[in-house]
Amino acid sequence: MAGKGVNLLGLPRAELETFVAERLGAKPFRARQLMKWIYRRGAADFEAMTDLARDFRAQLAEVARISVPEIVTEQVSRDGTRKWMLRMDETQGIETVFIPEPDRGTLCISSQVGCAMDCSFCSTAQQGFNRNLSVAEIVGQVWLAHRELAAAGAAQADPSPARSITNIVFMGMGEPLANYRNVVPAMRIFLDDLGYDVSRRRVTLSTSGLVPQIYKLAQECNVALAVSLHAPNDELRNELVPINRKHPISELLAACWHYLEAQNGRSITFEYVMLAGINDKPEHARELARLLAGKPAKLNLIPFNGFPGTRYRRSPAAAILNFRDILNEYGVIATIRRTRGDDIDAACGQLAGRVTDRTLVRLGAKLAPVSTAAEIR
Ligand code: SAH
Repeated sequence: MAGKGVNLLGLPRAELETFVAERLGAKPFRARQLMKWIYRRGAADFEAMTDLARDFRAQLAEVARISVPEIVTEQVSRDGTRKWMLRMDETQGIETVFIPEPDRGTLCISSQVGCAMDCSFCSTAQQGFNRNLSVAEIVGQVWLAHRELAAAGAAQADPSPARSITNIVFMGMGEPLANYRNVVPAMRIFLDDLGYDVSRRRVTLSTSGLVPQIYKLAQECNVALAVSLHAPNDELRNELVPINRKHPISELLAACWHYLEAQNGRSITFEYVMLAGINDKPEHARELARLLAGKPAKLNLIPFNGFPGTRYRRSPAAAILNFRDILNEYGVIATIRRTRGDDIDAACGQLAGRVTDRTLVRLGAKLAPVSTAAEIR
């Protein structure tokens, strides 16, 4: 995504206005025109922006650019789910997934190259962590998906609603709240009516539970929150989601209820991966129900998706149904997430991308000559 000039992709509206005023001596409405071209029409080339004066376009091309990540591969699942691997630089890749359903199209985007949270059941964790994505790299995923979906729709002469993006979820690679600085401006573009104009209930940030950032987000940005709970008590959650050792369940839940109050939100979705014999027993369901009954909470049960080298297995269907029924009996709304795109490794927790682990690089410096900056996978 390198190149000369300022990358306008992902620049918040106010910053774009300042940029056109200070660098180009232009009025703020030029910024609004630019945003329409970039996000609504998917323009990457100033020359295409025909309602801008020729001189202004030439001036723009001197000082600015619109750069998006490059697509390395595209895979389409039997069920219509699409997965793109995007090049972030020479060695790093991330993944973005589009999930079409009859009544909506969900784009699942990544926020980091790899992830440092180290959840024991997640394939991204095994890749290690390399770096945060920039605002342009986050917004660029939506920009590219729009373009690719439009092209796919045109090719099939059937641009049905299922081929367009109605929902955006941060459920790809990475912990979005660990990249707060870039994730929040990206979300502003998603919500902006001159950006992607997605309603705040249709942008979901999923977090493993970074409590201080949940409080911060509550003050700054209005989107739906999903929280990866995965266990009904600290002992088990410490094992599955190590950040719990720093921010235990009671603190996490307090942050969640604060978030709802500050945002005037309806409910928090708690994600719960179903791991056979680990967290899927009736007593876990009852403990979970006691934790969440009467609270503005919805449970989303995710059948575990396997990946090479994992020690976990998916809970049997009967155990998942029973788990849901127990929660429902206690008055806690629980739904089971349908597995999508698993034939192309696009399902929850299967995104691996291409990550060079910096943690390994650092350890490597200490442990030389044994370890090198190995490219995993
Ligand atoms: N870092 C964010 C986004 C993660 S991906 C977070 O932790 O919320 C979205 C969801 O998929 C999370 O709830 C995550 O815990 C879950 N997940 C991770 N690995 C999984 C796997 N192998 N099978 C099913 N779900 C998984």
